[in-house]
This record gives sequence, C-alpha cells and structure tokens, in this order.
Amino acid sequence: MPVIGVLALQGDVAEHLAALRRLGADARAVRRRRELDAVDALVIPGGESTTMSKLLVAFELLEPLRARLAAGMPALGSCAGMIMLASNVLDGRGDQESLGAIDMTVRRNAFGRQVDSFETDVVLDGIDGGPFRTVFIRAPWVEKVGPDVEVIGRISGGEADGKIVAVRARNVMATAFHPEVTGDERIHRAFAELVRAACDQSDDDKDTRDR
Ligand code: GLN
Repeated sequence: MPVIGVLALQGDVAEHLAALRRLGADARAVRRRRELDAVDALVIPGGESTTMSKLLVAFELLEPLRARLAAGMPALGSCAGMIMLASNVLDGRGDQESLGAIDMTVRRNAFGRQVDSFETDVVLDGIDGGPFRTVFIRAPWVEKVGPDVEVIGRISGGEADGKIVAVRARNVMATAFHPEVTGDERIHRAFAELVRAACDQSDDDKDTRDR
C-alpha cells in the first residue's frame, strides 16, 4: 500500500492524517528528510504559508521537497498548502518560498480578512456525489492557470463568482478550502486513488526497465 505523508511542520496536520486513515490509507507525519524520502505522496495542510515556508527552510526540506515534486511525486494542498504548491504567489511576503508544483498564480488572503471566512457549496469536476461543502479560512484564490492545469472547482454566486478554488495538474491537486475539516472524504479518496494509480504506473515502468 502506498504511504501518504502529511507535511507536519505547521497547520491542520491531525485533520488530514485522520481523514486519510479513515479511508484506510497508510498516512504518516513528515517533518524530517528521511520521513519525506519514505513517502510515496504528500499532503500539504492548511495553516500559514509564510510560516510553512520559513520552517521548510529551517528543516532543510525545501529543496528535497521541490526535487520530489519535480520528479512527479503526487501531492494534495489545501489553503496554505495550495499557496505552497503554486509557481507564483501574489500578496505574499517578499521572502516567501513556494514549491512551483502547479503552474498557477494564487493570491493570498484573496477573500479578505479572517472575519471573511465562510462556507459554501462548490461543484467539483471529477468528484461524484453532489456539491462539496467547502470551508474557506483566509483563503487564497487562483488568478491564473497554465495550459496543463485543469480547473476543477469555482465559486458560484456572490462577489467572488467564478473564482477558481480547486485545480489539478497531473498528480498534484490543490484546493483553496479545507476538505479535511468537514468529514467529507471525497477529495482525500480521489487523491488516494490518484496515488495508487501513480504508484502502479511507476511499478510498471520499473518492470519494463528490469525486463
Ligand atoms: N492565509 C493563510 C496563508 O497565507 C492560509 C490560511 C489557511 O490555510 N487557512 O498561508
């Protein structure tokens, strides 16, 4: 069974671990280089992206994580995690690092201040079973995506109508909201399936090479 890590430097790590474990996944906290080396995929939780960026540098994980992502490791980011996965961050701190795993521009705190946290229903492409109840907390939105990025969810209605809040680029998914806090595991399940498919594919590639 593939091992799914949850980056555990900061943020709502426990909620992601719990959601993955409820699905029967082998989910483990990742704080160290050797823990990163031992996982097949990584979830980057919600929290605070500038702090996460600083801690990635302090824990000497920034470059190893960039390298794993560049080599195709599947990843799921929520909120601050979405910001971390972006290639370009607006309204970030000057020294804020991101991982560049998804060719997109995100705007931090795009919906306003903490008081502007809200819930709404979002229809997600590729996720069956009706709209997803989404929780936004000082969330980013996506202002621009590159040609290989699939938009899977947008806000519908209100001032932010049409804003992109969920994307997928090959094996990397990101949401501006927090699927880990609502008890609806459909996004984690879709991610776990994606991880399984990616691991099967790389086993096949290895078999072909070894033959
Ligand atoms: N505003 C936070 C940031 O910039 C993200 C908030 C969240 O993850 N809930 O990182």
